[in-house]
Amino acid sequence: MSNSLTIALSKGRILDDTLPLLAESGIEPAEPPGSSRKLVLDTTQAGVKIVILRATDVPTYVQYGAADVGVAGKDVLMEHGGRDLYEPLDLRVARCRMMVAGRPGANEGHGNLRVATKFVNIARRYFAEQGRQVETVKLYGSMELAPLAGLADLIVDLVDTGNTLKANGLEPLEHIADISSRLIVNRAAMKMKHRQIKGLIDRLAAAVDARST
Ligand code: AMP
Repeated sequence: MSNSLTIALSKGRILDDTLPLLAESGIEPAEPPGSSRKLVLDTTQAGVKIVILRATDVPTYVQYGAADVGVAGKDVLMEHGGRDLYEPLDLRVARCRMMVAGRPGANEGHGNLRVATKFVNIARRYFAEQGRQVETVKLYGSMELAPLAGLADLIVDLVDTGNTLKANGLEPLEHIADISSRLIVNRAAMKMKHRQIKGLIDRLAAAVDARST
């Protein structure tokens, strides 16, 4: 079907912040997400579907063309590598910062530092670019606990208000990157469905601009 379009989103912040932008672009889920266990939602536009995935799977679905477009955090894209993906639009939502954090001064230590993080690729790249030797430990959650428990000297994590770090006696030490949600597009779909996807990008860009003025 030439008018078909699959949009990949993830639950939580991305879904909450992206649905209003999509609605302003003329696409609304036919039923509220979360009202059932459905992972594929029809929308008010014929042929346009929304699939709800785990955040880290969104780039993979779009890369392989199982979804034509998607919305993913810059953190997830940096960690994934972003191969074979177009990233035409910064949606400027779910904004935060990727930071190195730890106890005050923990990044000044000599010798090999141990860094606990969910974002091992980002952490390795960041420290390698600076010629700093670190050992990375992959965690899947509660990164803030690692320095307290003696598992690591530093963590690499997303920071918004800084309250989570503060509540655990940690502080942001080094800024790695500014993070926000990005629209990503499959390369083949960009060619094959150009008119439809270009239209969506333009309408989303207008919705994003209308908010930040
Ligand atoms: P905060 O206490 O406001 O600094 O928030 C930090 C916690 O929220 C950390 O556990 C982060 O992983 C998470 N977090 C903050 N901002 C985002 C975001 N934009 N996307 C995903 N997780 C976030």
